[in-house]
Amino acid sequence: MSLLEVEGLEAGYGPVTVVRDLSFSVDEGKVVTILGANGAGKTTTLRALSGVARARGRIDFAGEQLTGRSPEWIVRRGIAHVPEGRGNFATLTVEENLRLGAYVRKDDKVREDIARCFGYFPRLEERRTQAAGSLSGGEQQMLAIARGLMLRPRLMLLDEPSHGLSPLITREVFKILREIVDEGTTLLIVEQNANLVLEFADHAYVLETGRLVLDGSAEEIGADEGVRRSYLGMV
Ligand code: ATP
Repeated sequence: MSLLEVEGLEAGYGPVTVVRDLSFSVDEGKVVTILGANGAGKTTTLRALSGVARARGRIDFAGEQLTGRSPEWIVRRGIAHVPEGRGNFATLTVEENLRLGAYVRKDDKVREDIARCFGYFPRLEERRTQAAGSLSGGEQQMLAIARGLMLRPRLMLLDEPSHGLSPLITREVFKILREIVDEGTTLLIVEQNANLVLEFADHAYVLETGRLVLDGSAEEIGADEGVRRSYLGMV
């Protein structure tokens, strides 16, 4: 059984339905990506998983149903959402942001985990007392990922991690994501940059106007010229 199994998901906001009849799964220890053009419903899918968008259907995570649960309940089950726009607290320092990332935890390992995050992202350690709002775009993305890690998640949802970053910083961020996967965290990534993420992921799902149109190994999807042209906006 997969770590995450979604079946017949319908998701949206109030009366607006964005995602329809979507089924997909994510195996533990893997990297799965959801691709598609602007407005295809990728962000809404992640929001439905973390309880912040309206959702109907089955969302099974490690044997428990998430549909209808609160975002806080879902976070406590081990799903961290690193949103588009990063969601850092701009006036708080790097270290304060990391502590906030651990707000649902009651154990005494928070200090240890802050050190672990600084191990992944030495730039953040250098800037630990700086306000998050004063960081560069790349550092803010690193902070958002590190904040998510402070939950010790089993599954991390990443929305456009490369957005607004230079190719060099993007490579740095993905290199660290690889380490995070190697240490046991499962990733579900939404990306506009299909080339980049298809090299990184194990499996890919492609959405078009809220419906699943394709799925396959990242290698297969990436190698298919027709798919690249029709669905991924690549020539
Ligand atoms: P993008 O890459 O542009 O974020 P996406 O595939 O992530 O695209 P979504 O953000 O899920 O797409 O948006 C899908 C549709 O849902 C769009 O038509 C958008 O206008 C609509 N939508 C997004 N957020 C809301 C909201 N809060 N209320 C109503 N409709 C929304």
